[in-house]
Amino acid sequence: MKARHTQFNLTGLLVESAMRFPAHIAVARGKEPLHTYDTLARRVARQAAAMLNAGVLAGERIAIVSRNSCEYIETLFACWHAGACAVPINAKLHPDETLYVLAHCGAKWVFVDAAWESALSPRQHELPHVERVVRFGSREYEGLFAHSRAPEPAAVEECDAAWIFYTSGTTGKPKGVVLSHGNLRAMSNCFVSGVEAIDPGDSIFHPAGFDADEIVELLGCWQRACFFAAPTMVKRLVEHPPVASARLDHLKSVVFGGGPMYVEDCKAAFQALGPRLAQIYGQGESPMTITAMPRAMLADAVMRGDDARLGSVGTPQPGMEVRIAGADDVSLPAGTVGEVLVRGPTVMQGYWQNPEASAAALAHGWLHTGDVGCLDADSYLTLKDRSKDLIISGGSNIYPREVEEVLLEHPAVFEAAVVGRRHADWGEEVVAVVVARPGAGGSGLRAELDRLCVDRIARFKRPRDYYFVAALPKNNNGKVLKTALRDLVATPSAIR
Ligand code: AMP
Repeated sequence: MKARHTQFNLTGLLVESAMRFPAHIAVARGKEPLHTYDTLARRVARQAAAMLNAGVLAGERIAIVSRNSCEYIETLFACWHAGACAVPINAKLHPDETLYVLAHCGAKWVFVDAAWESALSPRQHELPHVERVVRFGSREYEGLFAHSRAPEPAAVEECDAAWIFYTSGTTGKPKGVVLSHGNLRAMSNCFVSGVEAIDPGDSIFHPAGFDADEIVELLGCWQRACFFAAPTMVKRLVEHPPVASARLDHLKSVVFGGGPMYVEDCKAAFQALGPRLAQIYGQGESPMTITAMPRAMLADAVMRGDDARLGSVGTPQPGMEVRIAGADDVSLPAGTVGEVLVRGPTVMQGYWQNPEASAAALAHGWLHTGDVGCLDADSYLTLKDRSKDLIISGGSNIYPREVEEVLLEHPAVFEAAVVGRRHADWGEEVVAVVVARPGAGGSGLRAELDRLCVDRIARFKRPRDYYFVAALPKNNNGKVLKTALRDLVATPSAIR
């Protein structure tokens, strides 16, 4: 029998901080401090007691549908403290999608913000397993803290589910990635040892929506600040004029990931923010934790003008194994392009109630990421693209990112995305969708971009067609939606 221990429970991280630094600020809303670690730990233990008293059992799912908020943090910890499994649901989903996730995970309680209370109340009859919908900040919510506190976090096994994270579902219905207490603890350890050490007194921003002005304002108030941003958000921040006069001495690091950071954009960000940039590469199935390029590594690549390293996603995170595989999962030698496979303590337990998809993703004990890339002799990983974004034209493989990197070298290009379009003779042809800087665009720019590509990459990789648009379609996390772009270029009149 596997061991169940209270120290395997993730809430232990909070309990330890409360014992060491009881009076330090743990949570603030904007500039306003809300709870110390001691208060937060007490609130979490009370909320957990309320859940247990109301009959929530070990492993039962408690969903959260809300924009980022202080209540979100305490409720996550309370779920773990009680031994329940949290299901945070993206607050920007369509109500039908949210209902699908709530039904699929069989949530017993749902915590919501005001907007989601209005959206879900009329449809609660569609969710017979949901016993309670509690709005953050309501009298019912505050009533949860009236209980005497649960003495200590529930004893759990390391592999017990702590969090079910639903994938975006771009290919079919969303799948629920099951992450255990052990997975999430390993993820935290990876972050502090392989990406960015977090010390007492550091502050971490969790924006409720990405607002460059708010970041600048918060930097005036909090010190040694860190935050995560998608590359497209870093770009927006860097291009935001007030950043030039922001308190960068209060900024410790900006950790980016979740999508490609182009070399030109990375250099521009370094120019604007200095040696404060770090990169992570991960996916829901191994969250934030496949490879990393910490600040010092990134600064070193910039200083040496090493664009190859700068275009990589760094080296495997502590305790993680990464290899490149071809057909039948056979490992390929350094420098060869194949699928990225990952093994280590952060890799998910599987997909919730989906044994077929779990077996395929975790075949032979390795997570199959669906990303295509290569490792160099020093273990730096360079991603080419998602395998489904690869363009095959006239039998040759073309990685969109390589073409996008070249287009972005042109000073008049703000953003660029390259996709394949069906072609009767070649199977697919390369098409570029470009957001030009104000005042640029048109046939002149098109000719210049074509010249740039002829100078820099093989002729068969050159875009055969260009579209100039005002903005690229992106998802809630700032990722460019290639599927939407493929649809758009297939019906050209839509964007010409
Ligand atoms: P998600 O599961 O939605 O977080 O998406 C994960 C996918 O985003 C990965 O499989 C990669 O294709 C991509 N991704 C994540 N981090 C990076 C990165 N640092 N550079 C390039 N692509 C990334």
